[in-house]
Amino acid sequence: MVGIVSDPLFMNHDTGGYHPEAPMRVHSIHTVFAGKDPGIRMVEPVRADSDEIALNHDRSHIERVRRASVPGRLVGLDPDTVSSEDSFETALYAVGSLIRLVQMAVAGEIESGFASLRPPGHHATASEAMGFCLFNNVAIAAKKAIACLGVEKVMIIDFDVHHGNGTQDSFYDSRRVLYFSSHQYPFYPGTGRLQEAGGRKAQGYTVNCPLRSGKTDGEMLALYRSVLVPIIHAFRPGLILVSAGFDAHAMDPIGGMQLTSAGFAALAALIRDEARDVQSPVVYALEGGYNLDALRDSVRAVTDVLKGGEAPGIQEKPFAELDGIIAAHARFWTL
Ligand SMILES: [Zn+2]
Repeated sequence: MVGIVSDPLFMNHDTGGYHPEAPMRVHSIHTVFAGKDPGIRMVEPVRADSDEIALNHDRSHIERVRRASVPGRLVGLDPDTVSSEDSFETALYAVGSLIRLVQMAVAGEIESGFASLRPPGHHATASEAMGFCLFNNVAIAAKKAIACLGVEKVMIIDFDVHHGNGTQDSFYDSRRVLYFSSHQYPFYPGTGRLQEAGGRKAQGYTVNCPLRSGKTDGEMLALYRSVLVPIIHAFRPGLILVSAGFDAHAMDPIGGMQLTSAGFAALAALIRDEARDVQSPVVYALEGGYNLDALRDSVRAVTDVLKGGEAPGIQEKPFAELDGIIAAHARFWTL
């Protein structure tokens, strides 16, 4: 059974008329879940409390976001990131809903989950909103799972086209939360080099795969097969969280990659099958993805896989940078 959070409430975070991180994104995704589906359990949004947000964020940051949510105007938190009247509340629901899916997944009530939420989270650091992100949904959910749900180790897989600098920051010195990211590089936010591999006591627990633009489905699948799969088996997480950004799609107006919805489904199938091997539930949280059709089609393809659908037949294709990426991570893992 797949747990889905998808609700018009997540349209309430108003970013102004011309912002790519627009309310229509989750509306577009919502159409995927309109009909009855025996493989899906719709889950009501849940509001997080500020103690949960504080698992990963300074109280002063929480207060700044709360105070930036005022009626009648947009407040800029960084050059890309705005807050409006309902942004704080919506962000609390984003975090709380993801935590709810994680609780259900850890309890075995669902095998996997997908949270179609906004604002996104992976750029938000402990003290700063940035890159369209207010609170780091995935980082908070990982900390909650460890602090309250008895989960020993969490793996975060981030296939958004951007590097999740905020998530990396949160777990840079942790051996209990492994952060794996594939991302376009050089690109916003500028972090995510191969050499960023974790703090002194957690070397190898940050796994960055920086990629030049133009990567295709087959190339991405080759990367995940040769780097992610062995690390899942060696690390053996009790929970896998996916920072699911779809801005590596060929139609995306921001990213420069060439993935298709079938490519995202192939990654989801690979993660599903490996997670089963190590008996870990998988919960997805929406991050980026700014072409509405590409976003809807990709989420449909991914959730079809979560329901047990076949992996699309995509041929893995090695590429120029792959050897260097494997060599870098082979210092810490048997690849
Ligand atoms: Zn992104």
